[in-house]
Amino acid sequence: MKRIGLTGGIGSGKSTVARMLADAGFPVVDADKIARQIMEPGSPVLAKVGEVFGADLIGEDGQLNRAELARRAFGSEETTQQLNAITHPAIREESERQFAAAEAAGAKAAVYDMPLLVEQGLHEQMDLTVVVDVDAEERVRRLVSSRGLDETDARARIARQIGDAERRAAADVVIDNNGSLEELKPQVEALVSEIREL
Ligand code: ADP
Repeated sequence: MKRIGLTGGIGSGKSTVARMLADAGFPVVDADKIARQIMEPGSPVLAKVGEVFGADLIGEDGQLNRAELARRAFGSEETTQQLNAITHPAIREESERQFAAAEAAGAKAAVYDMPLLVEQGLHEQMDLTVVVDVDAEERVRRLVSSRGLDETDARARIARQIGDAERRAAADVVIDNNGSLEELKPQVEALVSEIREL
């Protein structure tokens, strides 16, 4: 089974492209969704997060206070890495499990929807790396208008990610999503054909 890495900066339209690929019949392993799943109430990853970052992060209902964890963890490089050391192996393990399930179900290709694909060097393990590319200013506009982020937050999140040029350099295929959704569609169709020929 071929692995198709799909990535892009926040607000680039990566989830939109992932949905189109799912509609075309490809199983999608969604790293963001897995990142949330592994911190569900009662999970061993959540218990470890409580141990390291404070038991008060976990409410009486067992739910994690994500905003407060972000404040405690993302303030310094050291604490960011501490959190990553807890979560990343669990995300990798569950991703592998889902790839194996897709393969067992007979899929010829599966998509890895992964914001940090290039940051983590995982593009090297993919058969095809697809980068969805949009100018940063347009991404800020879309994040503010359709996802309701405030502008400062949108800019801060973009600034924390790898630069667009570096991400593009890792791509086998660049999807230009600066235009309309109508302009995106034929590019995804071409990508679908390319994946089927792998
Ligand atoms: P990502 O998953 O990369 O963060 P999304 O797929 O959620 O990005 O897209 C960010 C926002 O921009 C969403 O609200 C989405 O509907 C919108 N969007 C995506 N592509 C386009 C486009 N070509 N034109 C206008 N809005 C778009």
